[in-house]
Amino acid sequence: MKKHVVGIDIGGTKLATVVADTAGNILNKVRKPTLAERGPEYARQLLFDMVHETIELAGLERTAISAIGVSCGGPLDTKTGIVYSPPNLPGWDALPLKSQLESEFEIPVTIENDANASALAEYRFGGGRGYNAVLYMTMSTGIGGGIVLDGQVYHGANDSAGEVGHQILLPDGPLCGCGKRGCLEALCSGPAIARRAQAAVRNEKASATTLLDLAGGHIESVRSEHVLEAARQGDALALRLVEETAYYMGWGIANLVNILNPDIVLLGTIAIAAGDLLLNPIRKTVSEFAMTRPAEAVKIAPAQLGEALGDLAAVALVV
Ligand SMILES: [Zn+2]
Repeated sequence: MKKHVVGIDIGGTKLATVVADTAGNILNKVRKPTLAERGPEYARQLLFDMVHETIELAGLERTAISAIGVSCGGPLDTKTGIVYSPPNLPGWDALPLKSQLESEFEIPVTIENDANASALAEYRFGGGRGYNAVLYMTMSTGIGGGIVLDGQVYHGANDSAGEVGHQILLPDGPLCGCGKRGCLEALCSGPAIARRAQAAVRNEKASATTLLDLAGGHIESVRSEHVLEAARQGDALALRLVEETAYYMGWGIANLVNILNPDIVLLGTIAIAAGDLLLNPIRKTVSEFAMTRPAEAVKIAPAQLGEALGDLAAVALVV
C-alpha cells in the first residue's frame, strides 16, 4: 500500500516538498520561500502545511506515505534528528526537526545534511549509479562533500565527515569561512574564484579587458561565471585563473583519492557549468598528485542530477 515517500529540501532561501514513488520519480512539488528571518517556528508550520498540500495535490491519502526524507544544511545529528544552527538558517538552534515531523505525520523521518543527501542521490539516481565508492563535491558558494561507501553515507563519529572543502592546502593562504587559512574552499569556491579574479584584474589591468568588460567595467563585480566565460573566449588571464582553480581542486581531490580510493568523484555546480575546460586540468593534476593505483581507478566527472538534485537528495534518503 505504502508506495510513496515525501522529500523535504530545506535551504536558506527556499523550502521544497515533493511526493515521489519508491523508484524516485517525483509526482509533484510545492516550493515556497523560507523567509529564514521569521525564525524556526514559522518555517516549521510552513513545512507542515506544505507536506500536507503536496500529499493532497498528489491525490494521495496520508496513509499512502511510508517515510519522509529531509535534506537540510548542517550541522545536524542524524540519529537524534536535531538541527544545530546552520549558517543560512538563523535561529534554528538545536531544533528537534525529526521528532517534530514524526509526531505530526506519524511516520519515520530521516534527516541528513544536504551535501551527504546529494551524494546519496547521485549514487542512487545520477552519476554514481553502479559504483561502490562515490565522492560528491559541490563547488558553489562553498565546497561541501559527501562520501558514499557500499551504498551508505559515511558519517564519521558525529556526522562531521565529508568536509572536503576544509582540507588546508596553504596554511598562510586566504582566510576561510571556518576561521582557518588556505582551505580548499577559500581557494576554489565561487566567491574565492571571484576574489582571486578581482585581485588579478586589479594587478594586471592591461590584460584584464575581457574580464572587466564581462563584469560591466567594475572590478568588484567580477564573478566566477565571468572567468569561465572569458576563458571560453580564449582570454589568457581567465585561462590562467581556471588553470589555477583546477590546480588547487586537483590537489585537494588527489588527497581524497589517496585516502578513499573512490571509483568516481562527481563535481557539482561550477564544474558542471565549466565542463572539460575545468575538468581536464583537474584530471591532469589528480593524475600527477595522487598515487598511481588509486589515480588509475578514479573517474572525475560532472554531477548529473542538476536542477533535480535538491528534490532527489531528500527522496534518496527514504527509497
Ligand atoms: Zn575552511
